[in-house]
Amino acid sequence: MNQNLKHLIRPSIQAISHYQVVNAEGLIKLDAMENPYTWPDEIRQQWLQLLVTTDVNRYPDPIARILHQPIRESMGIPDDMAIMFGNGSDELIQIMAHAVAESGRTIMAPDPSFVMYKMIASFAGMSYLSIPLNEDFSLKREETLNMIRKHHPALIFLAYPNNPTGNLFDDAIIEEIIRTSKGLVILDEAYHAFTGKSWMSRLGEFDNLLVMRTFSKLGLAGLRLGFLAGPKELVNEFDKVRLPYNINVLTQVSVKFTLEHMDVFEQQTTTIRQQREVVFNALLAHDELTPYPSEANFILFRAPQGRADDIFYGLQANGVLIKNLNKPFGPLADCLRVTIGTPQENEKFLHALGRALDHH
Ligand SMILES: *Cc1c(COP(=O)(O)O)cnc(C)c1O
Repeated sequence: MNQNLKHLIRPSIQAISHYQVVNAEGLIKLDAMENPYTWPDEIRQQWLQLLVTTDVNRYPDPIARILHQPIRESMGIPDDMAIMFGNGSDELIQIMAHAVAESGRTIMAPDPSFVMYKMIASFAGMSYLSIPLNEDFSLKREETLNMIRKHHPALIFLAYPNNPTGNLFDDAIIEEIIRTSKGLVILDEAYHAFTGKSWMSRLGEFDNLLVMRTFSKLGLAGLRLGFLAGPKELVNEFDKVRLPYNINVLTQVSVKFTLEHMDVFEQQTTTIRQQREVVFNALLAHDELTPYPSEANFILFRAPQGRADDIFYGLQANGVLIKNLNKPFGPLADCLRVTIGTPQENEKFLHALGRALDHH
């Protein structure tokens, strides 16, 4: 492209690279925290019937009215809290950033954590500060609170459980973060389905607390629906920044339908949680690997020094795609992340992993 025109793009955008999505064609896909299961045939047929009667000539309902009550009930959202929907929770992060972005405003989140927090800070022209974690990926209490006092972040994102580490941060420290922060604290509960813990019921205890969830990891990644719950005064402001028709008609009716069949997801997530134990124990049985305990549908593990790339490509050569997080010298040096699949997929992963490790 003509250099003169490229200069129109902000330097902060030119400096970032694309969010990488690897082509998984022909591979067992254990890289993106998707639910490996589709729906039973009978339910799929009912769903198709519903789609047949759904018209797409009109714009969707801008506030997705049909989803409010079922989601409030199914997700235990306190009655006095407002909710808004996003095209995935990625969009909600972007909406919040756009709504607060102003020169000198900062987003803070732990490192390592979900990469979109930092990318979206760049998109919005905000500064971004990483909160360093302990070696076991827990929060450093003093250091974190001091950073907040010093930098006054407008938004703090805490993924609970954290991605890509799988752990839950300490509740007492989270509470201190919320109390210390003069900005907003967003608990990102993308992996809620795989843990027993949540901050949802504590909404309202603090003016500056919001909770975000998504249907993606539960099994609807292809539909793109996330929601934000929190105090009305805040959510109503964020809602002004949302593009009016962000949730399409097919997503609205499909999610409404699936909320009537939550038992299917519950069975699936129970199996995934059981399989998480199986995979964790198998990883633990390899003396040279260090798996980290997980409350999510993935497991982070550390390979022997300098071996992560080999193992990653070895797995790929054997038909299994996981996520390579290895960055020398950083907190994720030698780290790989595997999403929990079906029992058969997990077995194939473990078998391929054994081969990749022996290959040395
Ligand atoms: C996957 C993920 C999201 C984004 O999910 P959407 O598909 O955009 O709803 C948000 N936060 C965390 C921590 C995630 O891992």
